[in-house]
Amino acid sequence: MYELKFNNNLCKTCPTVDCLVKCQYIDLDKDRAKEEILKISEGKDSFVLHDCVTCYGCEEYCKRGNHPFYLITEMRQKKGILTAPRAITKQWINIGEPQGKFKTGDIKKKVLSFGFMPEFLQLVQGRLFDDVMPSYIYGQEFFCNVVYIHFANTAIIKERLPVVLDNFRKLDVEEVVCMHDECYGAFASLAPAYGMEVPFRPIHYFEYLYNRLKELSNEIRPLNIKVAYQRPCSSRLSSDKHHFVADIMQLIGAELVDRKYQNENALCCGDMFGMLSGYDLRHDVQTRNIDDMVDSDAEYCFFNCPACQNTLSEKVAKKGIKPVHIIDLCRMAIGEKPEVEV
Ligand code: SF4
Ligand code: SF4
Repeated sequence: MYELKFNNNLCKTCPTVDCLVKCQYIDLDKDRAKEEILKISEGKDSFVLHDCVTCYGCEEYCKRGNHPFYLITEMRQKKGILTAPRAITKQWINIGEPQGKFKTGDIKKKVLSFGFMPEFLQLVQGRLFDDVMPSYIYGQEFFCNVVYIHFANTAIIKERLPVVLDNFRKLDVEEVVCMHDECYGAFASLAPAYGMEVPFRPIHYFEYLYNRLKELSNEIRPLNIKVAYQRPCSSRLSSDKHHFVADIMQLIGAELVDRKYQNENALCCGDMFGMLSGYDLRHDVQTRNIDDMVDSDAEYCFFNCPACQNTLSEKVAKKGIKPVHIIDLCRMAIGEKPEVEV
């Protein structure tokens, strides 16, 4: 059985307790934060187990290599502290059940993984990908299952993720470019945290896009637009790759506006909050986030996660901000896509 590697000695000597001090949804000073994280690590109850809204942020705030959010999730499940009604959790778990209907292209040693997000079947087009495509995989058989940490369910991840890793092993691939950063987080963060062996080198698609744009740099025409980034919860599991957002914007001549809710202080799209914590929180987070984009004069809001894009596109467009996926933004810069109309 896979067990989370969590070292509470690191917490005992932690000088910041940033995991909980920086939490945007729970208000704690350093002393109280330390008390609570130690209680959780010792298997005791804590109000944090009841109030955490599953933003994943503490996975980024901890700079000591511990996994506070995975720990919270483990303890919630052990104590039966549910984040959603059982029927909703079950429905989500059923969606990820392998059906034998996965798709694969012409598989080479390097493959693009669309996970289980059908949007990538349309988004992944053009010269940015022509050095790898049509080597791709899509479907539940390759779905990372990380989303279930929103539902306080690590048991299903421990059951399914090793099978997913085996499915990759059977393909005999060496490098997997993860088109969704939750998949990348599964292979670069969560699987190692549970001692699961990953049989390939995971590559975050931001890194891939950055390198590909550099190869195509002669074709880039600077976009000269002001853009706001909608950072997804899942990117907290790969915060060492977040710098590629600014690096890519610099390459394509797009100005990242300086705003309050950016980088570590980013706000989620709110979709999960609506389901797990109620519509008031969802409304509050979305309003603060979009008002902040408007106040910082962003012309475009670009997305990393298609689920965030589905949730917020219409709402930002109503405020006169053009929604676009980062892949399409890059394709605009190399002349493959027209400007977005609102
Ligand atoms: S989880 Fe990380 S940030 Fe939090 S107390 Fe432990 S070591 Fe410090
Ligand atoms: S996941 Fe987010 S809400 Fe939950 S404790 Fe961590 S930072 Fe706070």
